[in-house]
Amino acid sequence: MARIVVTGGAGFLGSHLCERLVDRGDQVVCIDNLRTGRVANIEHLFANKLFTFVDHDVSNYIWVPGDVDGVMHLASPASPVDFDKIPIQILKVGSLGTHNCLGLAKAKGARFHLNSTSEVYGDPLVHPQPETYWGNVNPIGPRSMYDEAKRFAEAITMAYRRHHGVDVRIVRTFNTYGPRMRPDDGRVVSTFIIQALQNRPISVFGQGQQTRSFCYVDDQIEGQLRLFDGDYQEPVNIGNEAEFTIRELAEAVIEITNSSSELDFRPLPQDDPMQRRPDLTVARRELGWEPTIALREGVTRTAEHFAEVLGL
Ligand code: UDP
Repeated sequence: MARIVVTGGAGFLGSHLCERLVDRGDQVVCIDNLRTGRVANIEHLFANKLFTFVDHDVSNYIWVPGDVDGVMHLASPASPVDFDKIPIQILKVGSLGTHNCLGLAKAKGARFHLNSTSEVYGDPLVHPQPETYWGNVNPIGPRSMYDEAKRFAEAITMAYRRHHGVDVRIVRTFNTYGPRMRPDDGRVVSTFIIQALQNRPISVFGQGQQTRSFCYVDDQIEGQLRLFDGDYQEPVNIGNEAEFTIRELAEAVIEITNSSSELDFRPLPQDDPMQRRPDLTVARRELGWEPTIALREGVTRTAEHFAEVLGL
């Protein structure tokens, strides 16, 4: 049994991670300032003795009494909708927040796990993206606060590993979806599912020819835990290789939800990456992991969740 601090534990990914850790018998200290995380995601864990919740912004100094074996840093707004609304907080949690979490891990002799992102590859010129690709990022564009904060987070993580000998893990998460995404966070899978369930127009940006590779949350968490539990100290892509255009996604969601929605083409946001697909060679080799839940199955499960949330 280990004692693990999970930052962003009330968020979409964080709450699934807390649940898995508690289920396997680990003690979890969940830290979240509830800026984009939600109590509703974790309240079912409150009665569990292994679970503690702390309302705190990790961009400020963190102290956790007692032994800590792992610090898993997932705290960060992650949606393009947040990029417009709270850019400074995103930069702070990726930089100051990561620094504080590394400081906590160092003080406790704990393993540090950074939830980084495929956004470190920017609008990639190499396809699919292996971990060795350095990326194509606009440092001053409308996504830069997220991309550069995460790039800084990786850099300071590697500096703590090299300079202080902290035991680190870095996961690069590719578009992940599933139950507990915020209904209003604007990301494509949840947005399309909600629009389709309500038979409203599906907001396809551009011509919908840009691609993404969508990973179901249970696969994502399994990959992250294998990385955390293992020995590999370099970045690892965790995602799904099945790549879809956004138009294909919209059509699949309409079909799966049996919706009468029509496609509604809207302007493509600036710097929207044109393509994205993980190279999973390292994840397979080092973690023996690969995704198991195909888009159709994952969208079906996610649509069931949102139908319940919307009271349909
Ligand atoms: N997108 C879209 N309609 C929406 C939301 C997003 O067509 O209502 C597109 C967006 O332009 C991008 C892709 O879907 O090309 C994925 O967007 P998301 O915000 O989910 O994540 P990203 O991968 O861009 O961070």
